[in-house]
Amino acid sequence: MLIYIAGSGAMGCRFGAQLHEAGQEVILLDNWDDHINTIKENGLKISGDDERIVPMTIMKPQEANRVGDLIILFTKAMQLPAMLESIQGIMDSHTKVLCLLNGLGHEEVIKQYVPERSIIMGVTVWTAQLVGPGHVKLASTGSINIQSIDANEAEMGHKVAEILNEAKLNAIYDQDVIPSIWRKACVNGTMNSLCALLDCTIGQLFATEPGLQLVHEIIHEFVQVGQAEGVKLDEEAVTDYVMKTSVTAAHHYPSMHQDLVQNHRYTEIDFINGAVARIGDKHDIETPRCDVITQLIHTKEKILIEP
Ligand code: NAD
Repeated sequence: MLIYIAGSGAMGCRFGAQLHEAGQEVILLDNWDDHINTIKENGLKISGDDERIVPMTIMKPQEANRVGDLIILFTKAMQLPAMLESIQGIMDSHTKVLCLLNGLGHEEVIKQYVPERSIIMGVTVWTAQLVGPGHVKLASTGSINIQSIDANEAEMGHKVAEILNEAKLNAIYDQDVIPSIWRKACVNGTMNSLCALLDCTIGQLFATEPGLQLVHEIIHEFVQVGQAEGVKLDEEAVTDYVMKTSVTAAHHYPSMHQDLVQNHRYTEIDFINGAVARIGDKHDIETPRCDVITQLIHTKEKILIEP
């Protein structure tokens, strides 16, 4: 089985390395020259729980020329269309495409490039962090929920879950993955964006009364808009999930803080709070918190990235 990881940053490297170590043929695809050259020269350096060097094959997407059996999409959301465009040549009718990006709206983008019967949507609570080119830090454990979007293709989704499980990635085939995707987006839409704006840890945010009130108001907007889209979301259950996540991740600066505040990189805000604002508009649902948070993050991007 030939597996491509399309977008081999922190998460792509984690998944790529674990699948390689489970005996799969894995090719990492990426566009960051320093990262590609470092991995080609020294292998992928993994630090954290289980330090090691993993020899991995890595190349630019346009250099790949063998048709893949499975392609795992792990770009940042704004890089997804360009990646899908550049991997057209390595997909045929039997290639399965699994999306594990955070955020909302990716299914519609992928459908422009991949036949519906080949698409598997998913969500993961595994984490990973890039330390520098060719070096990823991995800690703790995680899981994955996936589902074929074509109900007739559930069997191929189950097979992909098996492959992920052979690599100890804890995948389950979910009969309704969309609420899980929205629930994770809601975690990102509360703690990621607010901690990036306020320059604080998750614990600091949740310890304040006004911060916590804002969190509840954002959850309410996510749930209202999701329900209008037909997604089965229960506000109490989503709130419970967000609160539990805030406890386990209390000492962390979330990834949007790392991207924007620490590394001055663009964020996925348009696919998180920005997506809720857009979808809310479609249903005439007001989303004042998501609107202003999206605007503030874009303002901060301008200040920090394009001074
Ligand atoms: P990432 O930022 O580590 O990598 C994404 C892409 O950006 C890769 O192609 C990478 O090579 C490139 N990149 C990273 N740093 C760069 C630099 N300094 N210069 C040039 N290019 C650079 O992204 P990720 O954390 O792997 O996330 C991928 C997707 O998975 C996102 O949708 C994210 O929200 C989601 N996700 C991430 C985590 C996590 O813990 N990191 C957890 C769950 C889901």
